[in-house]
Amino acid sequence: MSISYLKEILTNGNNIVCLLGKATAAEQGCDLYREDFSYDVESRYGRSPSEIVSSTFYNNRPEVFYEFYREDILKRSGEPDDLNYSLRQMEIDGKLKGIVTRSFFDLSGRAGCQNVVSLYGNIEKNSCPHCNKEFSSDYILTHKPLPKCDECGTLIHPGIALSGEMLDSQVMTRAIEQITAADILLVLGTDLQSRLGSMAKYFNGDRICLVNSYSHYSDQAADCVCIGNISAIMHEAYPAEKNCREDRRFRPAQRRRKFLGSLSRSDSDDKGDKPRRSLIVRDKFSARRRLSIFDVD
Ligand SMILES: [Zn+2]
Repeated sequence: MSISYLKEILTNGNNIVCLLGKATAAEQGCDLYREDFSYDVESRYGRSPSEIVSSTFYNNRPEVFYEFYREDILKRSGEPDDLNYSLRQMEIDGKLKGIVTRSFFDLSGRAGCQNVVSLYGNIEKNSCPHCNKEFSSDYILTHKPLPKCDECGTLIHPGIALSGEMLDSQVMTRAIEQITAADILLVLGTDLQSRLGSMAKYFNGDRICLVNSYSHYSDQAADCVCIGNISAIMHEAYPAEKNCREDRRFRPAQRRRKFLGSLSRSDSDDKGDKPRRSLIVRDKFSARRRLSIFDVD
């Protein structure tokens, strides 16, 4: 289908939620999703990335874990591009109510998006397990070899989910609530059968728009499908205004302070729009479920 149809839907829609898949992060230069990444890591560390990004490895060999986290995740986290700024523009225009993603690179957050639910964590939200103080990626990059809390001296936990750890069911519940409340679901960089894309089953709204780099048989469940370069398609369908990009100069902590007021207002506005189901997530998203950030999306 044509991009003009997507443009029409996004321009006329007012209650949009985005499922943001990993294919978009790959386009934006995040090395984790490069095809030869596993081979590259194994040749340097003698371990696979999924072995390293586990609670066992983090607890037993924290120096190596943090070397990997700095060199192979934080320093190769890509840059926001047209896609992220399109989403930011939609948020500024009051159309986009939230983004749900399995990527932890925070590209949309770095582009200025405020309401991002990161199912597998966020590299900018590293925290002290003892006193809960949060630390940015800059703090992790500059405190070697082990980044410790400057308040209590405890080893900081990375902002990303480690395999073997509990999944935060509250985050998943928040994601599902957003999807359920949306009128338009914008699925970017994943298909409707993936772990992320299959969350479309919680969608009760009018239209599903899908933009992806590859075709999939499940595309037929979407109302509007565009296949190609995801960032280029989004830029054409909903280009960001020039001043939208200026948000980049704010670091996440500064942005949070700057937008704290507007965030709480929009939250209460959302609740008034339509009644929401109260959701309790069990079974599939159980806290006991083992997870891996390297699962196919
Ligand atoms: Zn602490």
